[in-house]
Amino acid sequence: MNTPITAILDRKGCRVFQVAPSASVAEAVAEMNRQKVGSVLVLESGRLVGIFTERDVLRRVVGAGLDPTKTPVTDVMTSGVQTITPATTIEETLVLFTEKRFRHLPVLDAGRLAGTISIGDITRWMADENRAEAQHLKNYITSGFSA
Ligand code: AMP
Repeated sequence: MNTPITAILDRKGCRVFQVAPSASVAEAVAEMNRQKVGSVLVLESGRLVGIFTERDVLRRVVGAGLDPTKTPVTDVMTSGVQTITPATTIEETLVLFTEKRFRHLPVLDAGRLAGTISIGDITRWMADENRAEAQHLKNYITSGFSA
């Protein structure tokens, strides 16, 4: 858990899914569906100005009765995005997810976007680690018996 978040980025890649501030909600949702992700970042000339997630679709668009084709994503995104750096540990990331009650964290490396981490990425990493540790212990016990 003290492993830096780069361990996950190295596995999943640094791709960032994004839309421009001029995009409508319908366009942002189309991009999320195309990429099979639950969030898109809103970038203005390469600068992170907001995040828009499937929860925003539910609460701020559908829940508020807005027309996705007529609503700019900037009206319903969250600005003041919380970010992490490549050095942030997996444990620190998990604490942020728990305390802030969101499920997506963009990674900024010296001001440059280096990927997005979702709570699903952390769960997958923990499951893989547990599986590897169990296998390691199994090998250790088995080799001990055969000696
Ligand atoms: P989520 O659980 O990630 O779908 O997001 C729940 C709410 O938090 C939504 O309103 C998002 O726009 C917002 N949100 C998600 N990630 C972040 C983040 N890293 N910083 C600030 N707000 C966020």
